[in-house]
Amino acid sequence: MSLKYCQGPECHTYTTQDRLKGMKGSKTFQTRRRSNLLFDEFCDRRCFEDWFRKYGTQAVNHFGRLKEVKHLTEQNAWIKNYDWRVSTDDSHRYFTRNEITKEQRPLTEAQYDDTNYTLNER
Ligand SMILES: [Zn+2]
Repeated sequence: MSLKYCQGPECHTYTTQDRLKGMKGSKTFQTRRRSNLLFDEFCDRRCFEDWFRKYGTQAVNHFGRLKEVKHLTEQNAWIKNYDWRVSTDDSHRYFTRNEITKEQRPLTEAQYDDTNYTLNER
């Protein structure tokens, strides 16, 4: 199991006991190392936010800034849902609803569970 470094630019400045490492007389606060990191890069939310505050705008510009409104159209507004009040053996428990037209259609449990099943156009 390999440890990864938290990418938070200020991680080492947060003076928690788990960051204090080294031999007596030469202890330092150190960047956290973890096998599991938030978004695979950060030890916690604060470190993620530090990074984003410093580099977020550069990252958005690098990967492509949204410059026009995106549209969720009627053809792609089908959202799956279920009614928890309906008993599990009732065929009306699962449904998909078009959030624009408000049309609602029943789903089988298999259709509900199938992540590839949708009425949305691709
Ligand atoms: Zn961190």
